[in-house]
Amino acid sequence: MITTNNFHISRHSPLEEYTRLLNSKEEARTELLKYAADIKMQNVGKKVYFRGLIEYSNRCKKDCYYCGVRASNPGPHRYQMEDSEVLEAAKFALDNHFGSLVIQSGERNDKPFIQKIENLLTKIKDLSDGKLGITLSCGEQTRETYNRWKEAGAHRYLLRIESSSEKLYSKLHPNDTLHSFHQRLEALHTLKDTGYQVGTGVMIGLPFQTTEDLANDLVFFQDLDVDMVGMGPYIEHKDTPLYEFKNSLLPLQNRFDLSLNMVALLRILMPKINIAATTAMQAIDAQGREKALMVGANIIMPNLTPVKYREDYLLYEDKPCIDEEAAECQNCLEARIHMAGGEIGYNEWGDSLHFTYRNKMH
Ligand code: SAH
Repeated sequence: MITTNNFHISRHSPLEEYTRLLNSKEEARTELLKYAADIKMQNVGKKVYFRGLIEYSNRCKKDCYYCGVRASNPGPHRYQMEDSEVLEAAKFALDNHFGSLVIQSGERNDKPFIQKIENLLTKIKDLSDGKLGITLSCGEQTRETYNRWKEAGAHRYLLRIESSSEKLYSKLHPNDTLHSFHQRLEALHTLKDTGYQVGTGVMIGLPFQTTEDLANDLVFFQDLDVDMVGMGPYIEHKDTPLYEFKNSLLPLQNRFDLSLNMVALLRILMPKINIAATTAMQAIDAQGREKALMVGANIIMPNLTPVKYREDYLLYEDKPCIDEEAAECQNCLEARIHMAGGEIGYNEWGDSLHFTYRNKMH
């Protein structure tokens, strides 16, 4: 049992407890957020780590019902960044003392893609003399591919389970082998075996999703013993099949509040993991990421994708900063983080402390 004067979590029936806390309002909610902020300070402190985000390519063979870059959306112009553009973004990160990069991409498993990512990893490591940490977010791959990329220099991997409820997952994806819940879960286990720091996450406020589903997602993160989590509100995109359910969604503000409750409760439950303040939170509330930092998040991913591609990497609508160059973003971020009581961990990888402890115990 976790307890303070005003706050306690019973471990007897976690699902009920987590559901109750996720639904908390007014004073009870203030207590939850405040307690999470304390737990954060005691465990990971006020450091915020930057991961420069490179949205490498929007070519994707998947057809997820919520995502704006799904294969069958004819809207976005399909691109893949040039090597020189990736290296320039890496150079920007290095020159501006970011400790790490995230390379994210639509999902592909063809040989040229696998090879390309491997080469880019090697080149970024060379360019930065091994200084830049690299996180990948390139979907489900074989064990061999995960191994190759790890050897080439990636050491963290993000693969959101999207929803840990198999039933809900099946409503969000086509019912075929390319979109198998079990395969995605298997990929997460493979990533752990391969020795990556592993991150996962979910979308919050999806059609058909209940608060119990979200409580179950938290239990899922604990059971999988993940090192990092990135989660944020679901934001509908008009050129996707799920748009049809837009009238059944929680209002945006409630989705945001629920996301903040999720971040806070997760920080209490897994005090030493890394938690991202996601862009989707900023899409709803201009100060969304700062609010997330205050109640538990400790990672921010400033976008380093060249502006000319951003219009084509719209996973959801109203994505912020699509016409802002990286340098501009950084100035405003620094000020915002200071105002939220944070301090930027420049030149540090900012690895998950949870991962460090997990490995010490073995
Ligand atoms: N292809 C990679 C990266 C996916 S894009 C992979 O499979 O892991 C990164 C994340 O954006 C997704 O995992 C999903 O959770 C989120 N996303 C996609 N569409 C979204 C939407 N409409 N609203 C909010 N988040 C969305």
